Amino acid sequence: MALTGIKVGVENQDIEIILIYYFNFEKFYQLHFSFQYKNSLTFAQLLHNVSFLNGMRIEENYLLKGFNTFGLNSIAKGFVRVDTEAELQELPELLTKFNSYLILGGGSNVLLPDFFDGLVVHINMQKLHSRESGNEVLVNVGAGMNWHEFVKWTVDQNYGGIENLALIPGKTGAAPIQNIGAYGVEMKDVLVCLKAFHLDTGKFQVYNHEACEMKYRDSVFKNRLMGKVIIADMWIKLTHRDHQLNLTYGALKNYLEDKGIESPVIRDVFESVIEIRQSKLPDPAVIGNAGSFFKNPVVPCSKADLIMEKHPDLVFYPIDDQQVKIPAGWLIEQCGFKGKYNGQVGCFEKQALVLVNIGSAKAAELVAHAAEVQSAVYAEFGLMLEPEVNIIHPHLYGGKLNLSSVQ
Ligand SMILES: Cc1cc2nc3c(=O)[nH]c(=O)nc-3n(C[C@H](O)[C@H](O)[C@H](O)COP(=O)(O)OP(=O)(O)OC[C@H]3O[C@@H](n4cnc5c(N)ncnc54)[C@H](O)[C@@H]3O)c2cc1C
Repeated sequence: MALTGIKVGVENQDIEIILIYYFNFEKFYQLHFSFQYKNSLTFAQLLHNVSFLNGMRIEENYLLKGFNTFGLNSIAKGFVRVDTEAELQELPELLTKFNSYLILGGGSNVLLPDFFDGLVVHINMQKLHSRESGNEVLVNVGAGMNWHEFVKWTVDQNYGGIENLALIPGKTGAAPIQNIGAYGVEMKDVLVCLKAFHLDTGKFQVYNHEACEMKYRDSVFKNRLMGKVIIADMWIKLTHRDHQLNLTYGALKNYLEDKGIESPVIRDVFESVIEIRQSKLPDPAVIGNAGSFFKNPVVPCSKADLIMEKHPDLVFYPIDDQQVKIPAGWLIEQCGFKGKYNGQVGCFEKQALVLVNIGSAKAAELVAHAAEVQSAVYAEFGLMLEPEVNIIHPHLYGGKLNLSSVQ
């Protein structure tokens, strides 16, 4: 193997530029160009290599910058892309060769470590079928389909039900995991069932709607089954005619009214959601982020009453007779973090709930900033914010780590 490595130190900014080019006898070559904090990764951890197992291409020391919307220069010990169900079935054997593993879709809801000491399994299964029946249509979609492209396809077919979920990044397979939601609609409103592959038994199992246990930004796949199953595809139910548009979300309703649209159709909602989102949220292609970093706390009404003694202007939305939801962005803003930056990380100026990487931040900087936000909100309101983003441990399959355990 011929190997060339160039390291250039830029003293003042404490970074180094690493350029690696090599050629081996299997005729693969790779160019790695990466900015790192000094001494963060060993040279060996940056060497890229390719091997095959039962036809699956396994890449060693794989740069995940393009696979996480925070844009972190994270490196995985191994990386494999799964395109078919047959390839899924090869995984149990493949995983025995690694210490740990991480299932990854579009990487828009993860905070990756600098080096993940295991195999990253990127889900890329493409599938799209639909079956119309009366006013309804059942759509079968593969886990590797891009979510927004899928929503756009449904709108192009004039199928109604998920137009409010436009422009959410990531893959379709991750959508049930945290029960994605936006502008009054959640994944649970349309999911009929899904097919999941069990890594321990090597078998597929169908989970019906009830078995998915979908709640606010939560499901059985984010709890008991986290990391144990891979979602392969799902069936969702949409309307084919007589659409029931969901305009319960005030900002969406007002936006349509301001545009002078009195009788909106599916496409009006889809386009308005895109326009509202683009005006409020940072584009991950430009500014690294993973959307809302924390969940909105749901608290008993008595707790809200207590907070209101000190903060009479508390913003909240009733869930039922007993509970209210408090916007985490409002809480963070009250603590003075909106538009506040700590080096290369901070809380976005238009939405404090979105933590951003404005340069080449490290995972530890984002974790430290998130922990600071969490502590400040707790000190002011007595509420412990729970991360919505999955914080991935360098060695173990994770996702429900609390901030203090990864600092
Ligand atoms: C700008 C921006 C805006 C966002 N807005 C919203 C929003 O409005 N509403 C919302 O709910 N979310 C939002 N998100 C969060 C994110 O886009 C969604 O949670 C999305 O569904 C994640 O998809 P992904 O493919 O990127 O998942 P990843 O980040 O790749 O994975 C997320 C988790 O799911 C697991 N996983 C992924 N695929 C599979 C699979 N096939 N089988 C089993 N496990 C799997 C991973 O291990 C990980 O734990 C936003 C993110 C960004 C960057």
